[in-house]
Amino acid sequence: MTNASLTSWIDVPAGHDFPLANLPFGVFSTSGRSARPCMRMADQVVDLSACHALGFLNGLEVNAEVLAAPVLNPLMKLGKPVTVALRKRIQKLLHVDCAELRDRSDAHASCLVAVADVEMHMPVEVGDYTDFYSSEDHARNVGKMFRDPENALLPNWKHMPVGYHGRASSIVVSGTPIRRPMGQTRPDLEAPPVFGPSRLLDFELEMAFITFEGKPMGERIGTSEAEDHIFGLVLFNDWSARDIQKWEYVPLGPFLGKNFGSSISPWVVTLEALDHLRVAGPSQNPEVLDYLKYEGDSHYDVPLEVEIVPDGQLSGQVVCRSNFRHMYWNMRQQLAHHTVNGCNLRAGDMMASGTISGPEKGSFGSMLEISWRGTDPVAMPDGTERKFIRDGDTVVMRAPYFGEVRGKLLPA
Ligand code: CA
Repeated sequence: MTNASLTSWIDVPAGHDFPLANLPFGVFSTSGRSARPCMRMADQVVDLSACHALGFLNGLEVNAEVLAAPVLNPLMKLGKPVTVALRKRIQKLLHVDCAELRDRSDAHASCLVAVADVEMHMPVEVGDYTDFYSSEDHARNVGKMFRDPENALLPNWKHMPVGYHGRASSIVVSGTPIRRPMGQTRPDLEAPPVFGPSRLLDFELEMAFITFEGKPMGERIGTSEAEDHIFGLVLFNDWSARDIQKWEYVPLGPFLGKNFGSSISPWVVTLEALDHLRVAGPSQNPEVLDYLKYEGDSHYDVPLEVEIVPDGQLSGQVVCRSNFRHMYWNMRQQLAHHTVNGCNLRAGDMMASGTISGPEKGSFGSMLEISWRGTDPVAMPDGTERKFIRDGDTVVMRAPYFGEVRGKLLPA
């Protein structure tokens, strides 16, 4: 049962990413005023602080301070029941049958701003960023390329959602350019390492979820309560320098090959908005330990695509069509695993899925896999080809309900 039939008094073109049933959260600014929380409805941005000032949010447990903050963290600290009630109230105010705001045309100019007139900002201050590795096809592809094709998955992979702690400070909002990193690599294993610009610059197609406050340190969150601690999701491009990564990652894992930048889409799509997209996950064999068992459909059918647009062009080549449902481990399991040792969460922590690859060619979520380590280049419409990302390329990731995340690669 979908709720996509919810109708608003604001026009929504068919197939639009942001119908009334979606209503994601973000942070925006207009000229002359500082960044503040908002929601997105069709091509309008709903100014939450203006709605509050005009009394449209009366009775909700929100206040002027959290709705004027430059990030969503203070609002999220009020807890999931408050953000859910706020979203429901805005959904009601924009519903075709609700006259409250509809017939107050004097309030429209302050409560609704055309999206073309706003600048979007990082929706949250990211406290901690964790990157999982939860797509089986991606893990298999990488294992085949770099280790043993017969034993592509490491022995732990089907027993836990493998992950590592990444860098929060370099997560940026869509539209922010990324500079090709300099670093140490060892292209010739018979020769000493060299220093210079990364030559194997890649994207990783991921989704990330953002958490509410967790439990006190020392306590765990079970799979059955994990969703109470998840605010929503964004598209996530985890830019990666493969040559730096390859030389540095043993024994402690990814470091400078990853921490120079990750890009997110600006709209945080709530779990509630995605409810009608729930699907069953893959059967997990071998059986997982008790703390990773879960009930109910906990995967999501969200089609994903990646386009590479060469410098100076308006469109380029779609190089990947994948789907968020291609996950082996779901968000409940990731969160249960993350906290099983007593690790605490904070409002605004970001947990990325890991590269989301599907089973067949055309659905791989990184150039490493798409070009199979550079052996199978992709033809571009302008006659050039790509093994990895070139200076000036813009990488765009899109999904229905999410909009897009885009980032241009600048020279080193
Ligand atoms: Ca990653």
